[in-house]
Amino acid sequence: MTRFIDVPNLSRLVNTVGVVPFLGGLADAINEDFRRWNDFEKCPRTANHSDVGVIELMPVADDERFGFKYVNGHPQNPAQGLSTVMAFGAYAEVATGYPLLLSELTVTTAFRTAAMSLVAARAVAREDSRSMAMIGCGAQSEFQALAFHHLLGIEELRIYDIDAAAMQKLERHLAGRAGLTVIPAASPQACVRGADIVTTCTADKTWATILTADMIEPGMHVNALGGDCPGKTELAADVLHAGKIFVEYEPQTRVEGDIQQLADDHPVTPIWEVLAGKTAGRDSAEQITVFDSVGFALEDFSALRYIYAMDREHNIGETIALVPELEDPKDLFELVLDNHGQAYGRKAA
Ligand code: NAD
Repeated sequence: MTRFIDVPNLSRLVNTVGVVPFLGGLADAINEDFRRWNDFEKCPRTANHSDVGVIELMPVADDERFGFKYVNGHPQNPAQGLSTVMAFGAYAEVATGYPLLLSELTVTTAFRTAAMSLVAARAVAREDSRSMAMIGCGAQSEFQALAFHHLLGIEELRIYDIDAAAMQKLERHLAGRAGLTVIPAASPQACVRGADIVTTCTADKTWATILTADMIEPGMHVNALGGDCPGKTELAADVLHAGKIFVEYEPQTRVEGDIQQLADDHPVTPIWEVLAGKTAGRDSAEQITVFDSVGFALEDFSALRYIYAMDREHNIGETIALVPELEDPKDLFELVLDNHGQAYGRKAA
């Protein structure tokens, strides 16, 4: 039978494991899977765009397991009380096609995106990074902040959003964390000045320039995750020209990432090559590094794999009859017969 993790189950699972250990476990799972990059059959996600957003499907598989995610991105949704990003996905056995797990992936996407940002920053940000600027204080922001504070050593977080209520919400959620000082900034420039790491997680389906070249300082690591669709960017092209750029899956990032603004042959470094020790990450303390994150299916595969393992360990989810369990696999029709062997249907008048 298929295991089912809905949003309340996921909350219970995270509370059982602990938010920070959950982030850490997920980062380890992503790191493991990216290090065995060539084991996976990959493709860019398929995207159905509308004027107001996008709905995407993201599949990936190795020899044993297949995973996919359904995810949307609708920046105007919060105005109607809906999330910008909502997702669910499945994890299946390649040998039989049997679905092992059906899971919520909205909260999980925030966890896995922060875990991926963490994995990339561990690989290419300066090891002595202690301050982070965060522009965009929406749904993803707490997850990013907690990952970078607890698992990378960020002690000072400066935050900025055009929405004052979003900034207050982030401040409230991070209040009282030992060793973390949160400073609301009056402008993006004040937020970024002197930061070791700059995280941009804004949502606007436009050619935005959240960061311009004059805001970038030597040695900074830019963790840019809001530019993730054609025509939806956060970095001025000059910022990209100033740095060494790291990407998840190049064919997808060329279309969706901030690098869609650059020439097709502009050099980028796949982050998996750095994680697997095949390519250098940061070349000097002064170098500017940019992680042009768009979110790749393998991160969701790692998340599904991790949730499946945690559910087996803690038995938090439910078992559902998502696919038929038949005595005779050729007799599917028996499922639509009532107790008397009659097919269900409208009763004759
Ligand atoms: P959200 O709508 O909850 O929050 C976005 C925030 O950005 C809002 O508070 C908004 O006021 C703020 N904002 C918009 N324009 C701004 C500007 N010019 N300056 C400062 N703040 C501004 O969205 P979210 O769920 O937090 O997602 C943030 C972004 O990350 C989205 O663009 C989403 O598509 C993207 N995302 C990327 C990945 C990935 O893997 N790279 C994963 C999840 C989400």
